[in-house]
Amino acid sequence: MFHSIRFKFVIIIVISILISSVSVFFLAINEHENLYRKSVEQNLDAMSSVMADNILSIFTEDDDEGEVFFSLTTELLGLDRYEHIKFVNVFDANWNIIQYYVHPDYLNLKNFTPELTSVSPQNLPREVTITDEGLTVIKTIGEEKLPVGFLLIVQDYQRPLRESKKSLFYSAIPFVILVVALAMLISFLRYQQLFKPLLNLTKFTKKVEKTTDYNLKYRVTGNDEVSELGRNINKLLGTINAEIKTNQQNTEKLIEQQNSMQHLANYDTLTGLPNRMFFMEILKLELARSQRENEDLAIMFFDVDGFKGVNDTLGHETGDLLLKAVATKVKSFLRPGDILARLGGDEFLIMIPHLNNSLIAVNIANRIIEGMLSPIEINSWDIQTGVSIGIAKATDAEFDINTFISNADIAMYASKEKGKGSYTVFHKRMLEENRRKVQIANLITNAIAKDEFDIHYQLKISSQGSIKGLEALLRWKNDELGNISPAEFIPIAEQSGKVKAITRWLVERVFQDMSVLQTLVDHDLVVSLNISSHDLQDRNFIHFIKKNLSTYNVNIQNIQFEMTESSYLENFDSANEFFSNIRKMGGSIALDDFGTGYSSLSYLTKIEIDTLKIDRMFVMQHDSSGKDTVVLQTILDLGHRLGLQICSEGVETADQANYLILHGSDEMQGYYFAKPMPLAKLPEAFENAQRLFQEICVIEY
Ligand code: C2E
Ligand code: CA
Ligand code: CA
Repeated sequence: MFHSIRFKFVIIIVISILISSVSVFFLAINEHENLYRKSVEQNLDAMSSVMADNILSIFTEDDDEGEVFFSLTTELLGLDRYEHIKFVNVFDANWNIIQYYVHPDYLNLKNFTPELTSVSPQNLPREVTITDEGLTVIKTIGEEKLPVGFLLIVQDYQRPLRESKKSLFYSAIPFVILVVALAMLISFLRYQQLFKPLLNLTKFTKKVEKTTDYNLKYRVTGNDEVSELGRNINKLLGTINAEIKTNQQNTEKLIEQQNSMQHLANYDTLTGLPNRMFFMEILKLELARSQRENEDLAIMFFDVDGFKGVNDTLGHETGDLLLKAVATKVKSFLRPGDILARLGGDEFLIMIPHLNNSLIAVNIANRIIEGMLSPIEINSWDIQTGVSIGIAKATDAEFDINTFISNADIAMYASKEKGKGSYTVFHKRMLEENRRKVQIANLITNAIAKDEFDIHYQLKISSQGSIKGLEALLRWKNDELGNISPAEFIPIAEQSGKVKAITRWLVERVFQDMSVLQTLVDHDLVVSLNISSHDLQDRNFIHFIKKNLSTYNVNIQNIQFEMTESSYLENFDSANEFFSNIRKMGGSIALDDFGTGYSSLSYLTKIEIDTLKIDRMFVMQHDSSGKDTVVLQTILDLGHRLGLQICSEGVETADQANYLILHGSDEMQGYYFAKPMPLAKLPEAFENAQRLFQEICVIEY
């Protein structure tokens, strides 16, 4: 309060009013004193002149000394009515006092002498002067040149002056107080009026501070400095408000960006599922929690069987929709709290926490696999797909996240090997198998250099009984592991990127063998080579083939390439390009293991093949149930309608061969006629096969 302008303002006003009042007051007193003295002097002068004249007449009229004295005394006593006359001396012409007069007020005063002591009366001028005794006047009685005597009158002048001043002071004080009070009041009122806009502005700024509402506006009335200040404050508020608004918008944008970035970072854009990174974070926490609470936890690794084929044959858009549909479908089989995440491509992971019983995971896996049996409809395609699931438990991995994921991965590969649409629960023995895989992958690196590979040929016989072709099948004998089946090492070679070198070795060896093979029969033999999808990634592969055709003088018409249905479809574009080149050159293509991958047959019209190789599975089962017979018959019909040659694999009995011949299989291959064998044994095998063919008694079905 004491720092406020209001307080300072009032203080300054009051002080200045006080100073001016006091100085005016003292000036007035001073003036009063002067005036008072002048009037007293004039009165005294007049009164003493009158008295000198009166005394002169007493002296001249009365001769009797006693009468003079009496008259003088009477005259002097007349002074009693003048309050402030102190004393009077009447002198004769020789300055001897002839009469005194003392005013009754001074009669009883101690130490009072009714004479001038400070100065001798003769020396005083003939006018009113101030001596120690008071206001003093000397008058000549009679003529100045012939004086009869002298009259001295002394009047008290200080006391009445004091009293007069006092009375003036007391009469002026209330007035001064009134003036000061009035001044204060007026200044206060003026202040209120003057400072009202400033006070309003202060109030306004306080309100803004309290409410933080920068939309408020100060109501400006007038044009003075305060109004200008108000206008500037309004402008400032406007700027602040605009700044706050843009800040708010920026913050909102930032938060939005942050959220979407967080979403982008944590979720898969296609399916909206948590992504790998986010899943790993959740899994880490869940592993720690489960371990703390002595619980088990399962994860399921799965991928969509034949996804790549769908992508390549039906387009990426359909592929994306399929992934979404699979995610939705799989999710519907999960319990609340289970988490489904997409790792990328067609790979997914499921976390199943609170695993009190391992059967929970198995049940979920069964439900998913069964659920996938019904086709998914996308863009009017009925897509038949499935999933291969690997299940792992946290306790088997001792709650180590990397081991845990790796175990689920191993289990998933085991499922794939088992055949599509199955699940496998990880077991420690799989680690042993995995170790063997790693060992094979390592040993395969030097297998070519160490000349450990060999080729066996398996013949193909026509429905007329002639040897039409041979299939080259790889054999590997290793010092450490002995004979290793291509069914085991080819997938490992593919996974470890070593299959391309092996295929090149195979192509060269087969082309080398061609001249000998051709001498075994008197008609054209077609020798087929199995190639892997990985070979197609090698752009130079086609040139390699061309080069070796000419090096070994091989006619490409005697060469056929076999590729499995799933490999073909998963690398649809590159396979089509490669096979189209081969066919243009005069070679032929066979689709291996037909019937194991896709039940959607629409792709058959779009691919570059000459022969369908019906998978052993259909041949083997043909007589066990009526249904399989129908499937086999349907495949044979379909192949013929599409103008394709049909080769049936895995013919093991005369009965199977009989059925196939009757139902239009163009060629047959299988243990019944011959097992795969080294080149040297082929002449004997050819004879044997033809003999066996003769033995088939053709029964009409
Ligand atoms: P595939 O191409 O389907 O080859 C036919 C497989 O069936 C061969 O097994 C053959 O021995 C076997 N087989 C033939 N007739 C019968 C039969 O009547 N009954 C039964 N149970 N099996 C029969 P193999 O030689 O063990 O080869 C297995 C697979 O390894 C092949 O299946 C092929 O996919 C792959 N493979 C073999 N050699 C090569 C190769 O040089 N390159 C590539 N990429 N893959 C190869
Ligand atoms: Ca084959
Ligand atoms: Ca096959």
